[in-house]
Amino acid sequence: MTLDQLIVPLRDDPASAAIFCDFDGTLSPIVADPATARPLTGVRKALGALVEPYGLVAVVSGRPVDFLEDVVPDGVVVSGLYGLESLRDGVRTDLEGAGVWREVVQHVATASRAGGPLGMLVESKGLSLTLHYRANPELADEVKDWADAQAVRSGLLVRPARMSVELHPPIECDKGTAVRTLVDGLRAALYIGDDAGDLPAFTALDALAIEGAAVAKVAVRSPEAPEALLDAADAVVDGPSGALHLLRALLPDPASRG
Ligand SMILES: [Mg+2]
Repeated sequence: MTLDQLIVPLRDDPASAAIFCDFDGTLSPIVADPATARPLTGVRKALGALVEPYGLVAVVSGRPVDFLEDVVPDGVVVSGLYGLESLRDGVRTDLEGAGVWREVVQHVATASRAGGPLGMLVESKGLSLTLHYRANPELADEVKDWADAQAVRSGLLVRPARMSVELHPPIECDKGTAVRTLVDGLRAALYIGDDAGDLPAFTALDALAIEGAAVAKVAVRSPEAPEALLDAADAVVDGPSGALHLLRALLPDPASRG
């Protein structure tokens, strides 16, 4: 099935459909300093135009809500830190049991800045932290060893990501559980993502399809895209510009499609 055919059930009844987007590498080009990542030009407008017609437009990311809320348009629901925290209609919510880990995360971030491998970038996200080695790829093994040691010490769990390692509270959550929570009875869902962390969301869509939902699993191709993600996808687009093209194609009113 072509991408155009895949999105017909969503576009035909947008009020019953959910659009889920990953952020980094999907809406935003990957950059060396994660703090400077911004949506590709045109993405904010395209996302914003989907808010009114669609039942739900959500960005589901490993990033904290604090970052995401500043880079997506009003009305877009934000699920941050793989569902550990969310923002919907101006209301912020922590996943149950997550709040107590803020102090632990802070301690590990401080220790990592003080004693971690030289050249590793420490990004504290409140309820989780990311140890980046994109600027120094030769540090990959050293950063992973450091993360493993911190996990043992703190009780946090290690999760590999693109050119980085993340440390998370030991709470059952991923982009799949985030999608399941947000979809809340809608009858169709599209998810678009570029990384291994997006696979649980694809799995969640598979489960929704079994329950009768129309689903579209879209992978964003990049040199770093995992084979497993591309294999699991119903369709593949090229980079954030391909994702933008898809967002525009989802607009129900053909006259306003770019
Ligand atoms: Mg991504």
